[in-house]
Amino acid sequence: MSSKITAPRGTQDILPPISRDWLDLEFRIHWLAGRFGYSEIRTPMFEATELFERGVGETTDIVEKEMYTFVDKGDRKMTLRPEWTAPVMRAAIEHNLFAQGPQRLYYVGPIFRYERPQKGRYRQAHQFGVECTGYRGPDADFEVISLAWELVRGYGLTDAQLRLNTIGDEECRPRYREALIAHFLPHLAELSPDSQRRLERNPLRVLDSKDERDIALVRTAPTFESVLCDACREHFDALRAYLDAAQIPYVVDPSIVRGLDYYTRTVFEITSSVLGAQSTVCGGGRYDGLVRSLGGPDVPAVGFALGLERFLMMYNAMYPNRELRRFGVQAIALGAQARAMLVPLVDVLRRTIAQPVFMDYEDRKLLAHLKIADRNNARFALILGSDEIAAGELVLRDLETRNDRRVTLGAAADVAGALAEMAP
Ligand code: ATP
Ligand code: MG
Repeated sequence: MSSKITAPRGTQDILPPISRDWLDLEFRIHWLAGRFGYSEIRTPMFEATELFERGVGETTDIVEKEMYTFVDKGDRKMTLRPEWTAPVMRAAIEHNLFAQGPQRLYYVGPIFRYERPQKGRYRQAHQFGVECTGYRGPDADFEVISLAWELVRGYGLTDAQLRLNTIGDEECRPRYREALIAHFLPHLAELSPDSQRRLERNPLRVLDSKDERDIALVRTAPTFESVLCDACREHFDALRAYLDAAQIPYVVDPSIVRGLDYYTRTVFEITSSVLGAQSTVCGGGRYDGLVRSLGGPDVPAVGFALGLERFLMMYNAMYPNRELRRFGVQAIALGAQARAMLVPLVDVLRRTIAQPVFMDYEDRKLLAHLKIADRNNARFALILGSDEIAAGELVLRDLETRNDRRVTLGAAADVAGALAEMAP
């Protein structure tokens, strides 16, 4: 006996009927992104490790501990994509997209991070995200936040909270670094080892710490508000005015700094109380220096990444016992002769009506077939037995209302017409 092989730790198989939720969400994402004028980009699942080291930042959790890195047979150091922004920008630079002017790109797909698996935290997860490049003003910040919020709002996730902050630019950020170092340095020994190490190189990262040893000191840290330069303040105020006018509710949360090194000015998160410790479903902001730091032109950008697992967790917590809507037709043949007549009809229906047509090919009693119809969540049963054959008819039963209709045997168009009338 060989031992059973299971899925790798921290990964999930997505099985029916849950896969339906994924498909619906992805469909909604493609539709919504299209509405906002975004086009899809797909990049390789692995990239040169250096891309993430430069594009994500060497003091981040991702680069310090979470990357799936391997050496390929050509001795190249490769990493499974832990996030999409660096690859998207790499591709845009490589294919000269920035020469054409502003870009609106979105992506949906897996990311890989070597994390400790727990609720809402996996080693393979999936993200939807957008990147809007070429605009320095707050209009683009508003656009991407509005897009993320519309996805949340459209799903009725009423417990979601938008948290907003600004972390300045090259003019005021140095002042903030100084203020933070002055705040934390006297307490250096009380900080977590990660934060001790990061304080000198990137004190903002200390604010993002989830370590209990850091939390009290983080709470009393100075806010960016106190050092913000005029241009950054104007940008932030204009963004807030847009959000207010659009009636998108938010709170300003000075502790939001985001994990990645490349952010400037606007940062935001969407959080939810139902997610527990992993409370952030979406994180984003502006990163005006990233494209240049990856060897591209001086192009500003703003975007977000949203975790699909956490999004669906919120949806399931909000609507736990939702009933699947019955949809489709279960074709039921009672006996071999009926089956031989029904199979060709089913084949025509599958090409002509806009709903699924199910059929089971075993000899079973009507009741067993109806059970299968329930399992398929079919709305209708299309029944053919010996009595019906004799009468030259089929029975079309609405499994929701229990109404029966008789339709001419053999005429797919009649079945389609009756379906349209019974469930308009
Ligand atoms: P966290 O603080 O929870 O570690 P993060 O700052 O690392 O999140 P981002 O890199 O900003 O997350 O990714 C954006 C979103 O992607 C997160 O808000 C989350 O919804 C999702 N995400 C990130 N890592 C994982 C993971 N390991 N498992 C599931 N979802 C994830
Ligand atoms: Mg993380």
